Amino acid sequence: MNSIGAEELRGMLMALAARVAEERAALNRLDAALGDGDHGSSISAAFALAAADCAALGEASLQSLWLRTAKMLLNGMGGASGALFGSFFLSGARQLQGVERLEKCQMAALLRAGLEGVMARGKAKVGDKTMVDALAPAVAAFAAADDYSQAWRQAALAARAGAASTRSLVPRQGRAKYLGERAIGIQDPGATTIALLFEAADTWWRNLTDEKT
Ligand code: ADP
Ligand code: MG
Repeated sequence: MNSIGAEELRGMLMALAARVAEERAALNRLDAALGDGDHGSSISAAFALAAADCAALGEASLQSLWLRTAKMLLNGMGGASGALFGSFFLSGARQLQGVERLEKCQMAALLRAGLEGVMARGKAKVGDKTMVDALAPAVAAFAAADDYSQAWRQAALAARAGAASTRSLVPRQGRAKYLGERAIGIQDPGATTIALLFEAADTWWRNLTDEKT
């Protein structure tokens, strides 16, 4: 398989929602150390809403699924990261106008638009100890890969490495900023979520195409 249509995308959103739900408590613990402890609860609740909404939508276009997800994340999730995850989906939605199936390079462009949306909204750069530290390398790895199979795998690995890199960083955005150097040693929850999402997408792709790892 070398393209993704609406039915596949819907399945992917379900897989993402399931993954963040499993990690809810762990993400809350990271956010308790760096922020206010709500990240796992808010991201899993918002993705559950998005997945349920997309499941209930009946026949839907790629664009409507992407937009509904954006809306659910923007409205259904409190905190800074609701707006940021919402911006991720909202930024790429225009590219999906009239698109029925996404080839790998179109998915790369969609993810790139999402990253740009997050950076425009949150003003974080790589190295600020935020989700951008996982998202930027994941998007670059996805674009550099030859096909979907490689792209999901390389993006997941890059996101995981990016999330791990936040441990040694001092936060320069969000609530964690106020901790200063005391935040060193703790991995950023938003970056951790990005790694989980790309890992879930990689696993979903492998199940879909029946590829064994
Ligand atoms: P809140 O901080 O409002 O409670 P969450 O706990 O859901 O929101 O999310 C915290 C995460 O949001 C952080 O771990 C970080 O990755 C991300 N974040 C915070 N501020 C920014 C920003 N300006 N740009 C990018 N990501 C950010
Ligand atoms: Mg929080």
